[in-house]
Amino acid sequence: MAVQKHIIVVGAGIIGASVAWHLAKAGARVTMVASGSPGGLATPNSFAWINASWGNPKPYFDLRIRSMAEWARLASEVPAIPLQWKGALCFDLPEAELEEFARQHSAWGYGIRRVGRAEAARLEPGLAQPPEFALHVPGEGATEPVATTLALIAGAESRGAAVHAATEVRGLMHEGGRVRGVQTDAGTIEADDVVIAAGTGSAELLAGVGVAFEIDTPAGLLVHSRPHAPLLKGLVIGEIAHVRQTAERRIVAGSDFGGTEPGNDAAATARSLFDAVRKMLAGADELALDFHTIGYRPMPADGFPIIGRPAGIQGLYVTVMHSGVTLAPAVGLFAAEEILSGARNELLAAYGADRFA
Ligand SMILES: Cc1cc2nc3c(=O)[nH]c(=O)nc-3n(C[C@H](O)[C@H](O)[C@H](O)COP(=O)(O)OP(=O)(O)OC[C@H]3O[C@@H](n4cnc5c(N)ncnc54)[C@H](O)[C@@H]3O)c2cc1C
Repeated sequence: MAVQKHIIVVGAGIIGASVAWHLAKAGARVTMVASGSPGGLATPNSFAWINASWGNPKPYFDLRIRSMAEWARLASEVPAIPLQWKGALCFDLPEAELEEFARQHSAWGYGIRRVGRAEAARLEPGLAQPPEFALHVPGEGATEPVATTLALIAGAESRGAAVHAATEVRGLMHEGGRVRGVQTDAGTIEADDVVIAAGTGSAELLAGVGVAFEIDTPAGLLVHSRPHAPLLKGLVIGEIAHVRQTAERRIVAGSDFGGTEPGNDAAATARSLFDAVRKMLAGADELALDFHTIGYRPMPADGFPIIGRPAGIQGLYVTVMHSGVTLAPAVGLFAAEEILSGARNELLAAYGADRFA
């Protein structure tokens, strides 16, 4: 009988949870270690739009669109995952740029419809001023990121994974060019492989074993309303704000999906953003701001994911990225395959862990 590989996953946000789930499903012995409570740090503060929208080169589009397809597969494997797959109405660019986005992405196979004002109003009757021109992308969706992360962790646990929450990894055990485990504030844990899915905490852990890693951590503020009767059907990617209504019926919004720059007075920024969002919506007189969040995006310096094994060191695998909500299903699947079999998915070709070396 083959010996079961033991793999430590550092981090219990949506990326660590997806990696852990896919490893456990494939038969590995998994130990998750996370400094906070399960659910992550960036993950609870995410807008959680699942998309392959404008502004990305073709290889990144290909990875994202594959991950959009993998969401359906993952939700069928873990039925507790809450997905809202109702499409997006996009009008956050001038018309000529929307046209260019539609032309390019349609040629790449992305389902996009050009819609005028009447159709925009039919798709989103809750918009106070439907745009004259927009793109409707029926294949985009959203998830509730914490519920999804917890569902993946519960799924991994049901397949034998151990979860050490509130446990900080202080360093990696490293000898002879190989990582052999982790040093935590509760003792050491040995393993065959260590996956770093620690978001903004990843750079410090990797620096400890000499792996060069450049990461930015831009702040993003989102406003959350009190629960309200349905106002939106799908995602609204508007010029003033990106907005969706959650499963709890809260309106969540940022001036961009990545959040608004909080400025010196985050509460004032939130109030002003919320006022603008309320004006976007018809029938929202009673809509009240409940709270705002500020999240720090784990953004590799060139903006693209880092997924793979750093050269010259064994027993280590890195999964750090922005757009982790979009990418979690594909990254979890591909990372588990590579860790367990050595086979690297070709969609990861541009996203190796060595490019900052
Ligand atoms: C405002 C905002 C909006 C966003 N919008 C979108 C969007 O619309 N679509 C999209 O796809 N993505 C979006 N993102 C990005 C996405 O949310 C992140 O890419 C994703 O949540 C990252 O998940 P993660 O698991 O890598 O990190 P995190 O959720 O940050 O989890 C990191 C984990 O590592 C643990 N950790 C860190 N250091 C240590 C240590 N030393 N020891 C032990 N544990 C440690 C933490 O406790 C935590 O469990 C957004 C992010 C923000 C902030």
